[in-house]
Amino acid sequence: MNFKIDCLSKEELQKLAKILGEKPYRGNQLFKWIYQKGVLDFSLMTDISKTFREKLNQSYSFTKLKIEHIATSKLDGSKKILFRLEDNNFIESVLMFDDDRITACISTQIGCRMGCKFCNTAKVGFIRNLTVGEIIRQIIELNNILTETGNKLTNIVFMGMGEPLDNLDNLEKSLEIILAEDGLNFSHRKVTISTAGLLDKLEKLTNKDFKVNIAISLNAPDNKKRNSIMPVNKKFDINDIVNTIKKLPIPKRKRITLEYVMIKNFNDSTKDALKLVKLFKGLPVKVNLIIYNKTKESDLDSPDLNSALNFQKTLINNGIATFIRKSFGADIEAACGQLYASYIDKTL
Ligand code: SF4
Repeated sequence: MNFKIDCLSKEELQKLAKILGEKPYRGNQLFKWIYQKGVLDFSLMTDISKTFREKLNQSYSFTKLKIEHIATSKLDGSKKILFRLEDNNFIESVLMFDDDRITACISTQIGCRMGCKFCNTAKVGFIRNLTVGEIIRQIIELNNILTETGNKLTNIVFMGMGEPLDNLDNLEKSLEIILAEDGLNFSHRKVTISTAGLLDKLEKLTNKDFKVNIAISLNAPDNKKRNSIMPVNKKFDINDIVNTIKKLPIPKRKRITLEYVMIKNFNDSTKDALKLVKLFKGLPVKVNLIIYNKTKESDLDSPDLNSALNFQKTLINNGIATFIRKSFGADIEAACGQLYASYIDKTL
């Protein structure tokens, strides 16, 4: 049997060391080699005894992600990376450059079962959850790409393929590794989990004292519209989102981000903005307006910049901090699932 060592948390590595007749702190050394130094070869782990390394080599290996394709945007330099996994499935990650921030957009599933109408990943359907190794390796590989140019990642957003909270166990374990000082060592302020609104799992995650940023993909001002583009709304509707935000243990000065993909003549009117005001005024939220990236396959349209600006003004005038988010990689199909979809279309 061959197991993936880079799917294990620090505690699990300590237990493994003990099972193999070593002191538990050897697990800490392994943790550092794998996650802090990104070393994928037991023979290079020089402070670990040869016998232990040989034992590990017999039953354990490392997750492999092969870079299949990199598309670089001529507009903003963002890069979309298509990875081939060991089972020949594909996932995408995106690198975005913005002022002094370099953000990695990470996938958590192959495909997705949430079925959001504006999303290309939804069209793939759900294939499987990513392992901890596959989640973490995306980050390490993206950092390796940056190292060649003397840069490194500053932020991580879980907004790639899949619904992160639908893969909660592996997400939680990945977060432990990402936030650990002797792991990837990211500050919790630099990590964002975006959910379509699996509110039961969101409560579970936030109750575990993860102080990472939370974004909820809202995209509509009422249940009728949200039902029509996000099937998850039939399980957890807009009122449930409002009630959950009211009861989440949100630290002072922290706000939940409401992601709002603006679609022409669907959710971009002043009337829609006023509905949002009625729902969220006074709550610890900020709104990110995302201009819909029109694709060949979709019958949805991008809104005019003017309607986006008016929408923003209405929210701000009512005390809701609202930002129009830069849309990255419009020329490289950087919206969630677009490269995957076009690549699969061309290669199958
Ligand atoms: S937008 Fe996110 S949650 Fe919705 S289908 Fe796409 S990947 Fe899944």
